[in-house]
Amino acid sequence: MTRTVSIFGATGSIGQNTLDLIRRDRGAYRVVALTGGRNVAQLARDAREFNAEIAVTAHEDGLSALRDALSGTGIAAAAGAGALLEAADRPADWIMSAIVGAAGLAPGFRALHHGTTLALANKESLVTAGPLLMAKAKEQGARILPVDSEHSAVFQALVGEDMAAVERIIITASGGALRDWPLERLRYATLQDASAHPNWEMGQRITIDSASMFNKALELIETHEYFGVVPEKIDTVIHPQSIIHALVGFHDGALMAHLGAPDMRHAIGYALHWPDRAALPVDRIDLARIATLDFQAPDTARFPALRLAREVMAAGGHAGAVFNAAKEVALDHFIAGSIGFMDMAPLVEATLDVMSREFRLEGAIETLDTVLQTDHLARIRAAEQASQLQEKRA
Ligand code: NAD
Ligand code: MG
Repeated sequence: MTRTVSIFGATGSIGQNTLDLIRRDRGAYRVVALTGGRNVAQLARDAREFNAEIAVTAHEDGLSALRDALSGTGIAAAAGAGALLEAADRPADWIMSAIVGAAGLAPGFRALHHGTTLALANKESLVTAGPLLMAKAKEQGARILPVDSEHSAVFQALVGEDMAAVERIIITASGGALRDWPLERLRYATLQDASAHPNWEMGQRITIDSASMFNKALELIETHEYFGVVPEKIDTVIHPQSIIHALVGFHDGALMAHLGAPDMRHAIGYALHWPDRAALPVDRIDLARIATLDFQAPDTARFPALRLAREVMAAGGHAGAVFNAAKEVALDHFIAGSIGFMDMAPLVEATLDVMSREFRLEGAIETLDTVLQTDHLARIRAAEQASQLQEKRA
């Protein structure tokens, strides 16, 4: 039986890895929607190859190029935020949420309306609106499957286990490109320094977030929201080889670890075939060749994002939306060269401070709209913080 699939963020790193798995078993799937951003040529190529029903670019100004590239194929073309939501309304058995940033939240949330299986790579969705998303899935009979290597690892380690027996969850961190840099040197880290990941090939934004450990900060929150485990039971450890992705500790003292090659097709494939375990084209691990697995505690002085994640989890409510939005703005400014590497965390912290003085961030999230409004306002406040930082520097 063919399964229908849609991929949001198809042109990105996760999207392309997803298409790679689908391509290998072409007859088993029918592609409904593929979406992308600026990379219209890639989107059109993929839509043609997989004979998608519809291709959507997030940017209205890309529509005519997309239409031209698809002319004569019968594949529908659309553009803009509304078109992304309409694409999410098209029923599909399995939907990959792999847009980067908070932009992925609304389409993923919408897809849950028709009780689908949502493979969630977009961790920002859980950070900004975790309780809302999880409740929506439950209400609609939809299923969210984690597509982050650590969270897929935890999910797999929990198969057949009782959550009441879980004592702790440890997600590993490679430490990113600047893991061993001293604090004085981190201040001068350039975009190029931060953009080279030692183990994983990923989109540029998450690669830089790995170097600042903002990615791990998001993932701590993601763990809390997805597995419903209190923050005190969640920890991270630096593991430079990226072979163990996560460990679950039980109340008998046992630690169940998940090991695998650093290849996202592991987590994507697990979510694609769940609850089955299908053969996957990933490297096999040769433990004797690897010889050693190292671990060290993360340094929160050099990587303050981890401390901020704890504060965000303690606050709950809309703190996650502010944290993520401010982080996205800080990252934009770092990429543009207008703030330094070590300015990102103070910018995020200052935004959290300002926003929590303006609003009560704690308390239940009621609707997607309040999350989106918080996100919008946090971006404005974060941009103000960035200008202040630049003035100070000048
Ligand atoms: P990427 O930058 O390679 O791709 C992002 C995709 O989103 C592209 O298709 C892009 O066109 C689209 N996009 C960008 N901005 C958009 C917008 N405003 N509106 C709509 N679409 C937009 O990113 P990635 O590395 O594939 O990461 C995607 C998501 O998966 C992120 O949430 C990331 O944190 C998560 N993730 C990635 C990896 C990885 O190995 N790459 C691992 C774990 C989790
Ligand atoms: Mg991860």
